[in-house]
Amino acid sequence: MLEHDVLVIGAGLAGMRAAIAASANGANTAIISKVHPVRSHSNAAQGGINAALLDRGDDWEDHAYDTIKGSDFLGDQDAIEVMCSSAGRALIDMEHMGVTFNRDDEGKLGTRAFGGQRRARTFYVGDFTGQALLHVMFEQLIKSGVRSYEEWFVTSLIEEEGQVAGVIALEIRTGQLHAIRAKTVIFCTGGCGRLFEPSTNALIVTGDGMALAYNAGAGLMDMEMVQYHPTTLAGSGVLLSEAARGEGAYLRDKDGNRFMERYAPNMMELASRDVVSRAEQTEINAGNGVNGCVFLDCTHLGEALIMEKLSQIREIGIDLAGVDMVREPVPIRPGMHYIMGGIKTDIDGLTSIPGVYAAGECANVSVHGGNRLGANSLLDTIVFGERSGNHAANACRSLNFVDFDEHEVVAREEGRIRDMLERPDNGDRWGAIRQAMGESMVSNVAVFRDEQTIGEAIRDLEGLRERYARVPVQNKNRVFNTDLIFALELGYMLDVADTIAFSALERKESRGANSRTDFPERDDENWLKHIVAKKGEVGPELSYLPVTITKWQPEERKY
Ligand SMILES: Cc1cc2nc3c(=O)[nH]c(=O)nc-3n(C[C@H](O)[C@H](O)[C@H](O)COP(=O)(O)OP(=O)(O)OC[C@H]3O[C@@H](n4cnc5c(N)ncnc54)[C@H](O)[C@@H]3O)c2cc1C
Repeated sequence: MLEHDVLVIGAGLAGMRAAIAASANGANTAIISKVHPVRSHSNAAQGGINAALLDRGDDWEDHAYDTIKGSDFLGDQDAIEVMCSSAGRALIDMEHMGVTFNRDDEGKLGTRAFGGQRRARTFYVGDFTGQALLHVMFEQLIKSGVRSYEEWFVTSLIEEEGQVAGVIALEIRTGQLHAIRAKTVIFCTGGCGRLFEPSTNALIVTGDGMALAYNAGAGLMDMEMVQYHPTTLAGSGVLLSEAARGEGAYLRDKDGNRFMERYAPNMMELASRDVVSRAEQTEINAGNGVNGCVFLDCTHLGEALIMEKLSQIREIGIDLAGVDMVREPVPIRPGMHYIMGGIKTDIDGLTSIPGVYAAGECANVSVHGGNRLGANSLLDTIVFGERSGNHAANACRSLNFVDFDEHEVVAREEGRIRDMLERPDNGDRWGAIRQAMGESMVSNVAVFRDEQTIGEAIRDLEGLRERYARVPVQNKNRVFNTDLIFALELGYMLDVADTIAFSALERKESRGANSRTDFPERDDENWLKHIVAKKGEVGPELSYLPVTITKWQPEERKY
């Protein structure tokens, strides 16, 4: 049987960083990914990565405070301290590995301003920072000799007596199922953006790992905290990076007014994302937009700056909306971008299931709370990817492999897949169910939400789940059956969507990205706490956890 001390699921930035760390610590390590590693969504990151460098006169405690305020005081401050105090070293490590960060006129690593932060501390490579980081990390992965299972799709976690024993994965090329034994498993499976339509996320971002961990008994925390990014392109919903506003772009209504003056007079366009998205949505709802959009205006930045620092998003505007941002404002609106919630972990990535870790967007170490600051997510992936890899490798020294009956485990999963393939064609399609789920989530669990809209989403999900139980898989072949993979992914998506909707319904206040029109105020007395969703008999069961406060007391949040 295939066997590894540390098995990392997911080869985005978090996964590769975890695997490299585990391997450097002497563990027999493997990484598994449903797509080739450099096709992971981390590749799409545009704007940059945050770090407070001391030699710039910056201070990690300032970065921590901005992050805590950005989180609307829901982030756990011990975890935020870890992230912000390790950021400088983590960034320089990436530079030493070979990332060619942009430099300023003095030859120092260059920074740009990002939202919700009082200093420019975002390091970047043009507007394709994720690609630069991911490719360098892939080189390091190859160098490390870590075994890589590329285009293998994990379908279940194997547990024996409450301890992780391994995973079952489908080798996509052959259609064969394999059991892989592992002492520890690290989920680095990314977010769940495609539960919403449209979204800025790649089509592969379907929340698989969150659902696998949830189904195995782990808790998903803060799932109501879904980030809508202020600048997604009209129509397709593709992201136009915050880097544009970081470089000085304006937001304007249909008459050319910079409406942020009224919502965040100090930070204007660079207030935190939840604040800017709400401002835009308020203007659009009041009829101050055009076709459901307001405008991102870069025309005053000049062609030279745009070509040097924002060339990719300029091309996106031309190709997908026929608008050249050098010459005219681009129509944009808030769009689903990121999930602050995820698999609850401690600061070493350990979940409530012994031997199971999580890092990156699928995890919730609790550094983002109610709202993530731009460029803190790439930082989260490399800091907590590395920590979980180190911790898992060390834990393996005193762990044994857990036995299980390989034949039986594979046969059971084989049966589940055969049942899906053998369903009669009833005319329904997984694509239709996925689209209906995405549209319901976007309109009902939106920038603004209330009991009635969330209730509608919950009812829609119930109906879609019934359809999902009978939906046919048209392609019966086993070789490269993407029809089957998409159908399996949809099951995970529906599980995660439930946890989002039920958690959003539960939180009866407005904090961070959970803006309830029926409870418009933040209510620290009753709701300064996390909501954790665990799988129950008939849907998510919710409980609470306290927020860890070290030294920054909650206060009113103004930008
Ligand atoms: C367009 C865009 C721009 C962004 N820009 C920025 C930015 O500038 N700065 C910033 O800080 N953040 C940014 N973000 C957010 C950030 O990029 C992501 O949160 C982060 O890259 C996620 O990394 P990850 O390693 O957790 O997951 P991902 O990179 O999404 O990787 C997930 C991995 O899991 C694998 N996987 C998933 N399910 C399975 C399965 N069932 N079986 C096997 N493998 C599986 C996938 O194959 C993939 O390898 C951006 C996000 C988007 C969408």
